Amino acid sequence: MSTWAGVADIASDVQAGKASATELVKKSLTLIKEKSEFQAIIGTTEARALARASEIDSQVQSGKNPGRLAGVPFIAKDNFLTFGSETTAASNILKGFEAPYQATVIKRLEKEGAICVAKANLDAFAHGSSTENSDYFTTKNPHDKTKVPGGSSGGSAAAIALELAPFALGTDTGGSIRLPASFCGIVGYKPTYGLVSRSGIVAMASSCDAPGPLAASVSDAALVLDVIAGRDELDSTSIDRQGQYTELTGGLKGKTIGVIEMDEHISGDVRQVIDASIEKLAKAGAVVKPIKLPVNDYALATYYIIQTAEVSSNLSRYDGQRYPYSYPDAKDLDEVYKKSRSIGFGAEAKRRIILGTFVLSSGYYEAYYQKAQLVRSKIINDYEKVFNEVDFVAGPTAATTAFPIGEVQDPLQMYLTDVLTVGANLAGLPAISLPAGKNDAGLPVGLQLLAPQRKDRELLALASAAEEVLA
Ligand code: GLN
Repeated sequence: MSTWAGVADIASDVQAGKASATELVKKSLTLIKEKSEFQAIIGTTEARALARASEIDSQVQSGKNPGRLAGVPFIAKDNFLTFGSETTAASNILKGFEAPYQATVIKRLEKEGAICVAKANLDAFAHGSSTENSDYFTTKNPHDKTKVPGGSSGGSAAAIALELAPFALGTDTGGSIRLPASFCGIVGYKPTYGLVSRSGIVAMASSCDAPGPLAASVSDAALVLDVIAGRDELDSTSIDRQGQYTELTGGLKGKTIGVIEMDEHISGDVRQVIDASIEKLAKAGAVVKPIKLPVNDYALATYYIIQTAEVSSNLSRYDGQRYPYSYPDAKDLDEVYKKSRSIGFGAEAKRRIILGTFVLSSGYYEAYYQKAQLVRSKIINDYEKVFNEVDFVAGPTAATTAFPIGEVQDPLQMYLTDVLTVGANLAGLPAISLPAGKNDAGLPVGLQLLAPQRKDRELLALASAAEEVLA
């Protein structure tokens, strides 16, 4: 038995007065305390969460409907601007930052009665694949405390696997929702680029950043997406919604799924679980076809040029003036900039600022940044061609299961963990990681499914049918 009912059921119990939002929030806060050894959480929003819960309970008592997510507690990655707590993106340079406004996603969830109870750990500024780049601590994998939970939304994924709350929010710039979902054995959804507003989220690489839900089931993720999706005037790259994302019909039968060939880079245990899952999907009526995405071989290199370029620009705002950390003994403004950034940023942020500044600098811009943009277009074409032949693409989310904390020391090796996920970000595609099974050591393996842009509803419907078959 799981700790929480499905999100829709929790909300309808609250609406009907059968459950109290206050009790739900207290339950989540207690679990967060009880399971603190996993270090999934940076801090709670206890006072504000309890106040909101009591407001929702009194709305119910006076006959009002608090919304589709009435009283449902959730946990936000700490790069979402929220009231009731600091927003730090797990970086020293932002510690102490009180958001002046809330992210659009948070506002939309609150409008439907959901309650943010805590902020989850992440790699600082969402740079990483393991949460080891957090300036606070490394989150532990709920399935094996010696392993990483994946990243950068590792705290959010661990929180769901630990059942600290019914759902969590993450951001996916190169795989940061899907990879930790895979490592922690839960559902992680990266929407079509622009479907979910980036307003009020600490920017990483703006042309790739995609906020989305992490949950215990596809239907929970779909309901959360349904609440947060759609155009937002505060994000000029946001797009209109396409229908109802909770309509999970039409799933698997007769759908053509293109399967990317798994080469020797994918570890044996992952291959085994994925092969078995694909077979199950075929047995349930999907038409499985091998496919090739030739340009996708360059996706990782392309991503690490474009992403670092955008990171270097987005992180320029942390100048020791506008955000909390400022070097106190500077003799002039120049030294404020230099010292605040040198001390405030961690090694990974600095590495990306240097790389990104390099690929954008005159003389190298054409050789790196511009070329990467060209390859990005070719990657988009690659997927377009494939989607002329198949409805969906499937493969593993990650080449391995969760690795030991401290094992990956070389940053380039860490970047390689994103090799299967970055393509979706470069092409703006919707993608999901679903629990597909476990290896002999009991570590989860994630199945990744991708769809053409704006086919989020179809993808969720497929995933929901796949979830049933794989269970
Ligand atoms: N692991 C990737 C990186 O370090 C992706 C991060 C993300 O999606 N936020 O860039």
